[in-house]
Amino acid sequence: MKGKRGLVMGVANKNSIAWAIAQQLHAQGAELAFTFQGEALERRVRPLAESVGSEIIVPCDVTDDASMDACFAAVKEKWGKIDFLVHSIAFAGKEQLEGSFVDNTTRDGFLSAMNISAYSFVDAARRASQIMSEGGSMITMTYLGSERVIPNYNVMGVAKAALEASTRYIAADLGPRGIRVNAISAGPIKTLAAAGIGSGRHMFRFNKATAAMQDNTDLEGVAGAALYLLSSLGTSCTGETHHVDGGFHAIGMPQEKALKESLGIE
Ligand code: NAD
Repeated sequence: MKGKRGLVMGVANKNSIAWAIAQQLHAQGAELAFTFQGEALERRVRPLAESVGSEIIVPCDVTDDASMDACFAAVKEKWGKIDFLVHSIAFAGKEQLEGSFVDNTTRDGFLSAMNISAYSFVDAARRASQIMSEGGSMITMTYLGSERVIPNYNVMGVAKAALEASTRYIAADLGPRGIRVNAISAGPIKTLAAAGIGSGRHMFRFNKATAAMQDNTDLEGVAGAALYLLSSLGTSCTGETHHVDGGFHAIGMPQEKALKESLGIE
């Protein structure tokens, strides 16, 4: 990644998936710009960004056009062009992430989850592509709740389905300009965003017991996949949703022993 520059959107703290990706990209020589959402998070993000020598650390609220304008203008002014984009942003109100999807999903909750978790990638991808003058690569983060029903994931699963479909459409539009666009579908990882989803403990236990690797997802694997997709290693790979979840997505029916273990029954 030496000589490559990119924007990382979605670091909230040291546990963020985007931070694990940023550290791997930095270790491989990339130069990184970071966004943070609001002053409260700036206190956490700025020291992390500075620790990897970042010279662009800008506020960005993806629901605000003026904020997006200012963020991408700052990157353009300093660097002129970029080579990659990491989009690792999602949000749904806590009250939308528990119980019945059909009963609990409000219009506002639905639109806000779609806006922040899916449209923001379309918007960021368009803006990033305008400063990817020599081609490039973009990734976004998704989850299996887009493909199958995961308890409590609810409206976020619908937003992730839109995000994955958007990834394919953006890939088709930007492919002729040498820009690749992919999504990483990570298994559950303990972060701020994951804490908002009901029955988190059960989720981690069930994943560990029933994934092909009988383990939870390692952040290093997610960061490694990001490096592959964002570097020339990933040449010709675009429009893909790549699972990094210990093989959880591949299992149709868990082993009886593993299932009993996950449920704590003899
Ligand atoms: P995180 O809380 O560390 O990151 C979420 C980020 O979204 C934060 O930095 C937050 O500031 C940002 N964000 C939310 N609303 C925003 C807004 N309006 N404007 C700008 N930024 C905003 O949690 P994470 O788990 O690292 O989440 C990153 C991505 O990974 C999300 O898309 C999430 O859905 C996805 N993901 C997470 C898991 C998991 O288990 N943690 C699994 C698969 C996919």
